Amino acid sequence: MCGIVAYVGHREAYPLIIKGLKRLEYRGYDSAGVALLIGGELTIYKKKGKVADLEASLIDAHPTSTIGMGHTRWATHGEPNDRNAHPHYSHSGRLAIIHNGIIENYEAIKQKLQSKGYEFRSDTDSEVFVNFIEDIQKATASSLEEAVRLAMQEVVGAYAIVLMSAEPEDSGLLIAARKGSPLVIGVGEDEYFFASDATPIIEYTKEVIYLDDHQIAVVRAGELTVTNIDNVPQSPYIQTVELELEAIEKGGFEHFMLKEIFEQPRSVKDCMRGRVSADEGYLVLGGLRDYLDSIAKSKRIVIVACGTSWHAGLVAEYIFEELARIPVEVEYASEFRYRNPIIKEGDVVIAISQSGETMDTLAALELAKSKGAIILGVCNVVGSSIPRLTHAGAYTHAGPEIGVASTKAFTAQVTVLTLMAIAVARKKGILHEDTFRRLLFELERIPDKIEKVLKSAEKIKEMAWQFHEARNFLYLGRGSNFPVALEGALKLKEISYIHAEGYPAAEMKHGPIALIDQDMPVVFIATRDNSYEKIVSNIQEVKARKGKVIAVVTEGDKLIPTLADHVLEVPITHEILTPLLSVVPLQLLSYYIAVMRGCNVDQPRNLAKSVTVE
Ligand code: GLU
Repeated sequence: MCGIVAYVGHREAYPLIIKGLKRLEYRGYDSAGVALLIGGELTIYKKKGKVADLEASLIDAHPTSTIGMGHTRWATHGEPNDRNAHPHYSHSGRLAIIHNGIIENYEAIKQKLQSKGYEFRSDTDSEVFVNFIEDIQKATASSLEEAVRLAMQEVVGAYAIVLMSAEPEDSGLLIAARKGSPLVIGVGEDEYFFASDATPIIEYTKEVIYLDDHQIAVVRAGELTVTNIDNVPQSPYIQTVELELEAIEKGGFEHFMLKEIFEQPRSVKDCMRGRVSADEGYLVLGGLRDYLDSIAKSKRIVIVACGTSWHAGLVAEYIFEELARIPVEVEYASEFRYRNPIIKEGDVVIAISQSGETMDTLAALELAKSKGAIILGVCNVVGSSIPRLTHAGAYTHAGPEIGVASTKAFTAQVTVLTLMAIAVARKKGILHEDTFRRLLFELERIPDKIEKVLKSAEKIKEMAWQFHEARNFLYLGRGSNFPVALEGALKLKEISYIHAEGYPAAEMKHGPIALIDQDMPVVFIATRDNSYEKIVSNIQEVKARKGKVIAVVTEGDKLIPTLADHVLEVPITHEILTPLLSVVPLQLLSYYIAVMRGCNVDQPRNLAKSVTVE
């Protein structure tokens, strides 16, 4: 959720850290800070607000150091303000910490420390952590590394931390540790980087190490060592990241979100690359190969996810049940993990998460694993925590998604889940060769069809103008377009702050119809499928009550344009693939409305990209 950047080497640390923190801005945060070792003292600058505000406040300071660390905070303990921003000093001022995550037992530790005379400058759990380490170091007269290790054995919760010390024997020392929050080490020429993900690092080196839970990384005198919580030396695997910087910049678009909406023809294609060939009747998901048989034999699939990923799960429910004839339940990960769910040996649990770090989803998966389920992941970020926990899975390969409101990750998730459902149905021997070929053929045409939908961007923009002052929106769909209605509503509320709700169209009569009047825009996802006639009736019901109807229809539809106030066409495809097309105009509608309302589209208020706290 928050961002960590730390550096030790031969470069000026301050500008490098500021730049790195800006690269991590997409993660969402409320304050920023930097600690540098200047003249043997730890100097901390921190401020509520954006990294640019911090930078502006330091314009005359010219801080100089070749070692430092920076942080963007997303408050969990204590309101977002200057005082609670990271880094935090220890009581003596000789140690400083940056921390991502939550220390659950901080209150008890804090009380003990207070009884020993420790005073606290902030309300954070993080400041408790650094003082706890300092106290242990004093009491045991051990090295800082050892004190960190001992503290890790006591604290409960999730964290990625980096520590710096002002003690002369610790000069040039950076210590990092993780449990449950991501941390990447960049290995350069006589220099090291720590960061929450690789984006602040790749400009300098492509060699990275993904730290594992319970590992401690120490850079001392230019040497990196990694040990675990029991002080057992680890041999970390150095990998080369393929991520290009260009891929994480805006590429000429006004916002990351728009760039990512327009990237969908490519991201869906990338997602199928090497996996599908309609000509050869070929479908292979390498990451599932060893488990396909067990999945095909399973009696039940449970999908756990949050937010947009949960909607992708709902679409997948239709597809899996339709093609693979396996019962599917789709659960909010946060509910699943806390209600002693019934999981039997051999059940399949699929976690969907763009970041692969979503705390609730991760915990739900751990629970399912402990109960004997086969656990699978559908994630975008390679090497993230969920894929490392699962038995098998498939990456979405959508590329980095920076806009907080998910767009290309959703279509990539639905694509991968569709491929999984087809592969499982095939393995079960219940998918007719013709249907199999037709699905692959249609899947290969989806990128071009999305391209076609994107051509209506200008029209959608004009239409958005008429609705940008609306106070409420209703989204209605049937079948697999019902989750698309949910997703359309979520997109709108996330970025434009307009209240929006998604419903199955038939449910309208059981409540939401009471809301309909001339001020209520109602978006129908009314593509040609087997509930077409029914949804036409629902449109008429709304029109009879003077609601404003925007309808997403299949190209060439003659009837709905005579009923609806506005019509957005999507090309025809196989019915089960429709969500991949029908969601796109809704993403654009939300985007333009939000821009017209002057909202911060890429970083909507209160939201974070990667939700690594529960
Ligand atoms: N729990 C810490 C705080 O509230 C860290 C939050 C974060 O991950 O940014 O300061």
